Amino acid sequence: MKMTRREVAGLALSAAAGLAQELGERPQRDPSVEVVNPGGKVPVSLLIDDSTCLVNLAHFGIPHFAEAYPDRYKQDWRSLPREIPDSFVREFGEWTRTNGVKGKYSIVPYPACVGWVDRDMPGWSRKQLNDSLHLVRTLIAPNWDIHPEMITHTWAIDTKTGRPFPQRTEAFMENFGWSQNKSVDELADYIGYALRILKNAGLPCEGHTTPGGFAGRNLVNLSKATLQACKDVYQTEIPHYFRHAFQDARSVAPRVENVSGLHTADPRCVVSIIGCTGDWFGGWDGLETPTLDKFITADLQGGRMPEVIRRGEPAIMLCHWPGIYCNGKKDGYHTLQKIHERLMAGYKDRIAWMKVGDIARYWAAKELTAIARDGNTIRFKAPFACPGFTLKLATQRVSQIRAQGKVEWKADSAGLIVTFDLPKGESALTLS
Ligand SMILES: [Zn+2]
Repeated sequence: MKMTRREVAGLALSAAAGLAQELGERPQRDPSVEVVNPGGKVPVSLLIDDSTCLVNLAHFGIPHFAEAYPDRYKQDWRSLPREIPDSFVREFGEWTRTNGVKGKYSIVPYPACVGWVDRDMPGWSRKQLNDSLHLVRTLIAPNWDIHPEMITHTWAIDTKTGRPFPQRTEAFMENFGWSQNKSVDELADYIGYALRILKNAGLPCEGHTTPGGFAGRNLVNLSKATLQACKDVYQTEIPHYFRHAFQDARSVAPRVENVSGLHTADPRCVVSIIGCTGDWFGGWDGLETPTLDKFITADLQGGRMPEVIRRGEPAIMLCHWPGIYCNGKKDGYHTLQKIHERLMAGYKDRIAWMKVGDIARYWAAKELTAIARDGNTIRFKAPFACPGFTLKLATQRVSQIRAQGKVEWKADSAGLIVTFDLPKGESALTLS
């Protein structure tokens, strides 16, 4: 919630952010082989923050934020609906499924301390909660990575008791102070607590989203703790997280961090997924007016999405669920439909909608697969399997390419684009 906090934290750290992380090991790569975008297409995705089951986080969260910051958060939260109904989740889920729109969908596990998604949600029956989880599992999860956004998104809880700490200052809020001075183990304990609730609720999960400014001044520990917590709770092969969004010239390509064990049976890394827009939908409270043209203009040339697509980096938008619903007006949702329409009109053949976990896997394979070339044979040592792995080779002419599975290629002015499913471990491509 509160995009400005995320942006402020991100900007303050921008200069050091890339260097602050420990990237870890990198493999040997033959310079004549370039790994390019999957299938030669720019990944496009949407990050949805502040969603959960039934609860409108804005309605219940604002009084908590206002308690920590009495001068801010003056929104009339009582006038906002307490619920974002499942009928809207269904409408949104069916439209995105039909149109292939994909991304990340948060499920805040204990939203604003209202109730637990794996147990009871006071104000709704057990059946309503179970039906809501079923809808997320069956309609949303196939095309959207499910993330916890810490535990409450408001007050930090004591993981020993499950109760919020009694202090009512910003130092005890998840999205402001609490996380900034915690050790790797303390953060991993906290993130793990959030992940376990989603696991209890029967939801799949390979990463998390930081609420607001969470760990914005503690980035090295955040990355390591994410890896540790996802491995502990879900045994995730390639954990990922969403913390940064940049709107300037900085790269928005995913960052593959804390890499180790590339030559062992237990290769490890964690991927930071980076957004490229602000929330120009309805905002975290659903009270903003969406600005479609900031994403993509009517002539299809202007706006942030064409800019990043032309750059060839994943164009990952972000929004907040209350600002998609817009308190029943659905302005944010209609804006998303128009963005999709414009992207398809201008860039259909150049982009591919992807889940963020699939983008994370692609970037891990892109950066961590060892590639050696011996004449017409290209050998790979891949720590992770990767569907649609795509290479660019300087070679122009080829009559046949053999791989372990199906392989497709096409000549382009600069060389040959080859797409195939990269298996984990050792494999080879042979050109003739
Ligand atoms: Zn949030």
